[in-house]
Amino acid sequence: MGLFEGKKGLVFGIANDHSIAWAITQQLHAEGAEMGFTHLPDKDPERPRMERRLRKLVDDFDKFILPCDVQNEENLDAVFAKAKEEFGEIDFVLHSIAYAPMDDLKGPVHNVSRDGFKLSMEISCYSLISLASRARKILKPGGNILSLTYLGGEKVIPGYNIMGVCKSALESTIEYLANELGPEGFRVNALSAGPLKTLSSSAVGEFDQMTKLYESFSPLRRNITPEEVGKTGMFLMSDQASGISGENLHVDAGYHIMG
Ligand code: NDP
Repeated sequence: MGLFEGKKGLVFGIANDHSIAWAITQQLHAEGAEMGFTHLPDKDPERPRMERRLRKLVDDFDKFILPCDVQNEENLDAVFAKAKEEFGEIDFVLHSIAYAPMDDLKGPVHNVSRDGFKLSMEISCYSLISLASRARKILKPGGNILSLTYLGGEKVIPGYNIMGVCKSALESTIEYLANELGPEGFRVNALSAGPLKTLSSSAVGEFDQMTKLYESFSPLRRNITPEEVGKTGMFLMSDQASGISGENLHVDAGYHIMG
């Protein structure tokens, strides 16, 4: 019997088959989880590109697919209403979302625009609060929320720029949420992944150099694979991790310990 047999949850952040959320979803599915998924609303409903991309991946096993821009309260309400209708209660929420406008992401932090800062923080950090406030109303005791972060939230990583500031805020948010939701029986954790080529990471400057550094200097002298991130994400959301909350677990071939 799989670790997620009878367990139900929501997954936010699959853009395509390179997405970290997809790597985790594959492991959750293999362990028997039932899931609802979201995608960014399509600008042209006649050409539902986002929905099609997601549907292609999860069509065999999704319980539902809904559009959701995390900046839109109505979208968020609709997703959690659907989860309640479909599942009653849920066991997990995967938050695998980040965004910063290209002009702000590419430049130094001291040049970030006010609007770019607000947008980056809202989508990359506040969205977790939006999900947590709704999730706690339908999470089962023992349920949990997992979010994705990167070492650039703890240390200065050249090229990571404003996203590093967002990840710092996200990691702090995870700790506060863990403390607040813990007495209700819920866990909140972060998985800090090494660099993987995805749509989001292709916007990060010096990404290729980052990957090479991991291959040369991490304790394992290599980078991680999507499957390794997927397996650890699945573990953190499973009952095997029932004693883990407020954690920031690095899946980065050990790179974070290096000076
Ligand atoms: P992806 O681009 O595959 O995933 C990012 C997701 O965020 C996409 O599905 C994107 O939707 C979604 N998104 C962006 N803006 C919004 C919004 N307003 N509302 C709803 N969804 C939105 O990249 P990754 O898988 O790399 O990123 C997932 C998470 O992992 C991010 O938090 C990222 O910072 C983190 N991470 C990534 C690492 C890497 O090296 N790739 C390393 C460590 C952490 P759409 O594509 O449709 O715009």
